[in-house]
Amino acid sequence: MKLMFYGAAREVTGSCYGVEVNGKKILVDCGLHQGSDNGFGQNFAFYPGEVDRVVITHAHIDHSGRLPLLVKQGFHGKIYATEPTCELLEIMLRDSAHIQEVESGWRNRKQKRAGDVVAPPLYTMEDAEKVFSMLVPCRYDELIDTGDGASIRFVDAGHLLGSAYIEMLLKEDKVNKKIVFSGDIGVPGHPLIRDPQYIKEADYVVMESTYGDRVREPVFDHVTDLAAAIDSTLGKGGNVICPAFAVGRTQGLLYNLREIKERGLVKSVPDFKVYLDSPLASAATKIYSGENVAYLDDEAAALIKSGVQPLWFEGLHIIESVDESKKLNDDVSPKVIISSSGMCDAGRIRHHLKHNLWRRECAVVFSGFQANGTLGRTLIDGIASNVTLFGEEIAVRCRIFNFRTMSAHADKDGLLKWIGAFESALSRVFVVHGEHDICAAFSVLLGELGYNAVAPKYSAIYDLLSNEMILEGRDIVRRGEPEYVARRETPVYQRLMLAGTRLIEVITRNKGGANKDLGKFADQIDALSNKWDR
Ligand SMILES: [Zn+2]
Repeated sequence: MKLMFYGAAREVTGSCYGVEVNGKKILVDCGLHQGSDNGFGQNFAFYPGEVDRVVITHAHIDHSGRLPLLVKQGFHGKIYATEPTCELLEIMLRDSAHIQEVESGWRNRKQKRAGDVVAPPLYTMEDAEKVFSMLVPCRYDELIDTGDGASIRFVDAGHLLGSAYIEMLLKEDKVNKKIVFSGDIGVPGHPLIRDPQYIKEADYVVMESTYGDRVREPVFDHVTDLAAAIDSTLGKGGNVICPAFAVGRTQGLLYNLREIKERGLVKSVPDFKVYLDSPLASAATKIYSGENVAYLDDEAAALIKSGVQPLWFEGLHIIESVDESKKLNDDVSPKVIISSSGMCDAGRIRHHLKHNLWRRECAVVFSGFQANGTLGRTLIDGIASNVTLFGEEIAVRCRIFNFRTMSAHADKDGLLKWIGAFESALSRVFVVHGEHDICAAFSVLLGELGYNAVAPKYSAIYDLLSNEMILEGRDIVRRGEPEYVARRETPVYQRLMLAGTRLIEVITRNKGGANKDLGKFADQIDALSNKWDR
């Protein structure tokens, strides 16, 4: 019975963990590495054909975006996720495949011109579509026997529609162990989705630490502050531009805007128009307002019951085509535009920024995490008087708002409350899904509070029966340098490192084998080492 760390180990993206029970391998999450190139950075530290089944905590791409690659490389088992997650995965993986195809085409044209070898996209639409038939939609709080001594239960994480913690119950050699995977932990009081739940019992916990280093300001009134920003901007004849993540953040904004309209909080232009300019966001919004009422919080469910659509209001316009999107820039009437990407590093939002950043009467409203190096981060930090968009220098003159407390990730206090809810003694807490130093610092903090906590390294392996580390793994991110070390190593060398990681796994699986076989195996490895140790 083992636990392996294949991603989000001392980094924020690429969530992927392995559990081995009775010789079968279960994968928990299969996320895309973001901020890394699409070459080596996305390789698996195991053979996808060896994986028997997959469990997904939620639909965000850093938890699910490598599923098509897993299938392309030989996985053919079942993928368990909650009902809304399955629906959201269909649109998100299609969108991701589309991006992979477009970026690969663009990269290859450039490489061809430079005389370099061209590479196929990481995965195609066809690969993504193969994932959908493997999905097993599940409900919250039901114990699901996935066979071979493993059962799982999804518990509401309050982070995104359908988001879940996974309780995994394992039985091997008459020994029972329970691991809880936190996925992303949400915050109470978020619009539309229910408050995060708490779990009381586990032997092991694998928990996120995204905001493990900070306590956010007390929750303020989003609606009043957002309304004030809109009121003053529209009153001056300007536009309000909202960069937002298509799934989650956009729906939160629509919910707030409906309330603002209903309460008449914008006096300057009471019948103001709102344009939702993101096909992915529109598709996701339908899932939030469709047949998933049972997954919404009581407030949203009550609205629907009384005949009010929580994400729909007078003056909301959905923009589908690129032409329509461009036409918005010719329309001089003050308005609100919601578009993606949330961090302004790609997508239609960049056109809207080009046409509005230089206008003093306009405003940009941020409401989500802005990673280092993105245009969004540059704008909220206020460090540039000009930015380059589509090869053109654009002056930054408009007002910039940053409503950070609208984030759907628990802060340090929220994380401590979550782990503090466990009543049983925890054998070990594995701290993952945080920037390098944050994972380390949060595990030290848990240690001071009396937990046996560790921030495991990439490809580390732990034995769950003895609670011992079998393989330390390696630190793939250098201190103070958020970029992958992988970028400085050649792809072939990286392949070799992965082959080495796999060898260790194969060795651990042979524990208890016949002496004759183990001896032969050792001889072969020794011969190989002698050959190459030069
Ligand atoms: Zn998430």
